[in-house]
Amino acid sequence: MTGRKMKIAVLKGDGIGPEVVESARSVLLAAAEKNSLGLDLIDLPIGFEAYKTYGRTLPPETVRGMEECNGWVLGPLSAGAYPKDDKDYPMASGKIRKAFDLFANIRPIRSLVEKSDKAIDLVIVRENTEDFYPDRNLFKGYGEFWPNEDTVLSLRVITRRACKRISETAFELARTRSKKNLVTAVHKSNVLVEGDGLFLEEVRKTAKNYHDIRLNEGLVDSIGMQLVMTPESFDVLVTTNMFGDILSDVAAAKIGGLGLAPSLNSGEKYAMAQAVHGSAPDIAGKNVANPTAEILSTAMLLEWLYSKYGDEAIRRTALSIDEAVRNVLSDGNSLTVDLGGAASTEKFTSTIIDRIKKERAR
Ligand code: NAD
Repeated sequence: MTGRKMKIAVLKGDGIGPEVVESARSVLLAAAEKNSLGLDLIDLPIGFEAYKTYGRTLPPETVRGMEECNGWVLGPLSAGAYPKDDKDYPMASGKIRKAFDLFANIRPIRSLVEKSDKAIDLVIVRENTEDFYPDRNLFKGYGEFWPNEDTVLSLRVITRRACKRISETAFELARTRSKKNLVTAVHKSNVLVEGDGLFLEEVRKTAKNYHDIRLNEGLVDSIGMQLVMTPESFDVLVTTNMFGDILSDVAAAKIGGLGLAPSLNSGEKYAMAQAVHGSAPDIAGKNVANPTAEILSTAMLLEWLYSKYGDEAIRRTALSIDEAVRNVLSDGNSLTVDLGGAASTEKFTSTIIDRIKKERAR
């Protein structure tokens, strides 16, 4: 082993969480061993598992354990299905994003096999700490109000600081990708005149500092259609929290579904791998879930750790994972059911691990 040992928390989550996170863990361990990266993986309870022991879905013990790690791998959570007496109701992952200031949710949508000029390679950069999300848009309390039996008010919060930070993240990312050098700002400023007006003001201000990157702007409804019709025309998209959440599921449909859509939640100090998909209760426990999204989210976490710590072994481990996943998907001999194959989650995972073990040293 060379370099610094990385301490990574593993939080399995609910539904298919334990299956896809176990897969990501074993792929991570195999790639780390191949590339001489020292790893210390710490299991921490979250979701229903934590509720059974601690009476809450995000116990302080878990939060303390997370603080001591360099990064976290989180499985999906059955948010919304938690008991109302859970102190962390309705959403542990929202609490984590807010508490650790994970302001950027980076959601790449890539054709993992297709090589033609129709291949999709875009990234949705989604603000993660405010907007229509009532569990994180107030300092205290919940951002939805029920003044009488027939009326509910949902509060939307948009701040200049959050818009500035997410714009800068998007432009920096566009620069490092060297693809189309294009950022598309997605908004609804014809209706949300002030909130999205402020968002656009900050995006445009940021754009002035990036002369090498073009700025395109579009209404969320029209961009939704374009993502379906010409997804290959996009590079980086930057948007507010709710629009980013919806658009990433839409775009995932164009590359083969949610099983292939990874994401990273990141801030200045911490980052968390977390697939775009939810806990998929319809297939939980059946050993059929596609773990690709969780595995590639873990590779994204490694890339973030490399940018922070600069250890080559971390970068090589991320590359190993990415390459092995692409190769197994291109071979097409061991695909999960959502991709038209018959391989179980475990079989797909062991095929990736075999591939990592066989690859040449970097
Ligand atoms: P979902 O993403 O769990 O599932 C949508 C569909 O995609 C289902 O048919 C499911 O079987 C399929 N799918 C999802 N991931 C897959 C995978 N890896 N492999 C194969 N198929 C996969 O969305 P949902 O059903 O709307 O939500 C279920 C639960 O997940 C809800 O409690 C919701 O609140 C929660 N949720 C959590 C997160 C998160 O923790 N990040 C995100 C979205 C939804």
